[in-house]
Amino acid sequence: PELRRDPFTRSWVVIAPDRADRPRHTALAADPDCPFCPGREQQTPGELWRWPTDPTRPWKVRVVPNRYPVLAPSDQPAQHRTTGAYISVDGVGGHEVVVESPDHDWDLADGDDEAVADVLRAYRARTLVLRARRPGLVLPFRNHGAAAGTSLPHPHSQIVATPVVPLRQRRLFDVARAHYDDHGSCLYTDLTNAELADGRRVVAVGDHVAALAPYAATAPFETWILPFQHQASFADITDDVLDETAAILRRLLAALRSLLGDVPYNYVLINAPNGEESTAYFAWHLRLVPRLVAPAGFELGTGIAVNPVPPEQAATRLREELARDARVAPL
Ligand code: UDP
Ligand code: ZN
Repeated sequence: PELRRDPFTRSWVVIAPDRADRPRHTALAADPDCPFCPGREQQTPGELWRWPTDPTRPWKVRVVPNRYPVLAPSDQPAQHRTTGAYISVDGVGGHEVVVESPDHDWDLADGDDEAVADVLRAYRARTLVLRARRPGLVLPFRNHGAAAGTSLPHPHSQIVATPVVPLRQRRLFDVARAHYDDHGSCLYTDLTNAELADGRRVVAVGDHVAALAPYAATAPFETWILPFQHQASFADITDDVLDETAAILRRLLAALRSLLGDVPYNYVLINAPNGEESTAYFAWHLRLVPRLVAPAGFELGTGIAVNPVPPEQAATRLREELARDARVAPL
C-alpha cells in the first residue's frame, strides 16, 4: 500500500489494492468458514496479544495481524517521496484484528462488563506497543453491521497504525493547543465539566468518565465517552478508568440496541499523535456514531453533516433507556 496526499486538501488517502481480496462473509448465523472461530487459529497466525495470557487456557480475546492490511507492519521508517506536485509515503504502519470473543454470535452489548473490559485491555496494550514504533497515530475502531463496513460477522474490532498524523487528528490537536494557549487548560476537560454542569446532553456519569451527546453531533445518537482527567492516550489509562469505560460502553451499546434495534455503527478511539501523549491539552475519547443516515451530496460538497436528531433529544432518550432497562442497570 501507499499513502498519497491530496494536493488540494492535504488529506491522506491509502491506495491499497490488496484490500480487494479480503473475504466477505455476510451470513449472520454460524459460519463454517469463519477464520476467527476457535479451532481455526492457524488461519490467523502470528498472535500479537491474548487474554488470558496463559497459553494453556482457552482464549477470550486475541489480537492477530490483519491478513489484508490497509497498512503493512514494518520496522523501517516510512519514506516520504515528492514527485512533481505529488507527495506520497510508504504504506507502512500496522493493521491488527481484535477477535473479541470465541463465540461467533456474541456481541459487545451482550457481554458482561468484564468481557468488554478485556477488549479495551487489548486496545490499551497494542496502542502502547504500536505508538512506540514511529510518529503517526494509533487508531482502535469497531465497525458493526454491513452499512458500517463490516465484512465478517464474528465479533471483532481493528487497530490501524498510520505513519502520518491524519489531517483530522492534526486539526483536533491544533484546536486543543490553541485553547490551551488561550486559557491554560484542556479543552476536553473544560467542555466535559461544562456539559456535566449543564446536563442536557449528559448520557451517563461515572467516577472517571462520562458519556455525552456532543453539542455539534454529526449523526443521530452520536455519543462520546470522555475521561475527567486529560490522559492524552488510551494507552496510559489506569484499570479504574478502563473498567468504567467498559461498563459505560456496554450499557450505551445495549441502550442503543433497545432504542433502535441492531443499528449499524462505528466507534473510534481517538488518541494523541504518537510521541505527544504527555501533553496536558488533549484527552483521549471514544466517539460512537450510529449509521442511521447515509451521507449524501450536500455532505460531499460541503463537509457539513445534516443531523435530523438534536443531541439533547438523543441524550434524553439514551439516559432514560440506561435508567429503565434492567439489563443496562446503572453503574
Ligand atoms: N481478515 C483477516 N483474516 C482473515 C479474514 C479477514 O485478517 O482470514 C480481516 C480483513 O482484512 C478485514 C477484517 O478481518 O480487515 C474484518 O474487518 P471488518 O469486517 O470490520 O471490516 P473491513 O476491514 O473488512 O472493512
Ligand atoms: Zn466465527
